[in-house]
Amino acid sequence: MSIKVENITKVYGSQKALNKVSFEVEKPEIVGFLGPNGAGKSTMMKILTTFISPTEGTAEVNGHTITTEAKQVQQSVGYLPEHNPMYLELYVREYLAFNADVYKVGKARIEEVIALTGLMPEAHKRISQLSKGYRQRVGLANALLHNPDVLILDEPTTGLDPNQLVDIRNLIKTIGKEKTVFLSTHIMQEVEAMCDRVIIINKGEIVANKKLSELREGQEQIVIVEFDYRVEDAFLLKLPNAKSVKNTFDFIYEITFSTTTDMRSHVFDFAHDNELKILQLNQKNASLESMFRDLTS
Ligand code: ADP
Ligand code: MG
Repeated sequence: MSIKVENITKVYGSQKALNKVSFEVEKPEIVGFLGPNGAGKSTMMKILTTFISPTEGTAEVNGHTITTEAKQVQQSVGYLPEHNPMYLELYVREYLAFNADVYKVGKARIEEVIALTGLMPEAHKRISQLSKGYRQRVGLANALLHNPDVLILDEPTTGLDPNQLVDIRNLIKTIGKEKTVFLSTHIMQEVEAMCDRVIIINKGEIVANKKLSELREGQEQIVIVEFDYRVEDAFLLKLPNAKSVKNTFDFIYEITFSTTTDMRSHVFDFAHDNELKILQLNQKNASLESMFRDLTS
């Protein structure tokens, strides 16, 4: 397990930024930490990188406990902060050399991360002369210097233009083949473009944790229907494409269909054929986008 978060709560003054958050991240995996602004993403990432401590709960990164083994955690994690502080007047190699010293890695590794992040054509410049996309590459190169197993990237693609966006996404995907990447974003499409799994956070609480493959094959819809009388689940499962049925209340049923074609008319016909009355009939799409909207609205 690369990251294991157990019941973390963080309170700033009177505000609860995280409320009993738990999740796990395996290796190698690219996990998107998705949530609207103010959801608690950066707070979680600062805790995992030992910059701030949790009010309650604990976490392990690469088997090291954040509160008692901060040094080991820092050794095994690379961090790209949200507002990556960069010394603009420094040259790229100078900037990287600074952290290379901190982590006691040699000059050869600096050249390696420059090559790895595609910085070569701009590596002779000052950071102030670089585009936002190339600055992000410097931030990534910096995070990779000590060859950590886990990368924590706080909104790595925010503020990039469309071309830079594609380049940085590809770079992160390449890195994610070997390392665990935990990245935050408030944009659902970023998750679909890069991630194997998504953990959705809203108002300091985890509201979903799902593999993207599940969500994709889950081209699903849920029809919520209320009849005037009890119906056997097995009976409802005879509807075309019906996958599962949940009796949520009295005569209310949630039927999951493995199709995006609107199934309400089938349910209506079913009711008619079986002399049932429909008291309510609603449909919801189970796509990632609508899920994100539902969960965070
Ligand atoms: P996100 O990264 O998802 O946008 P943050 O983790 O930055 O969210 O913030 C979560 C909540 O905690 C927000 O309401 C924010 O205003 C608050 N917060 C973050 N940092 C501090 C701080 N140092 N002091 C007080 N409140 C903070
Ligand atoms: Mg943030």
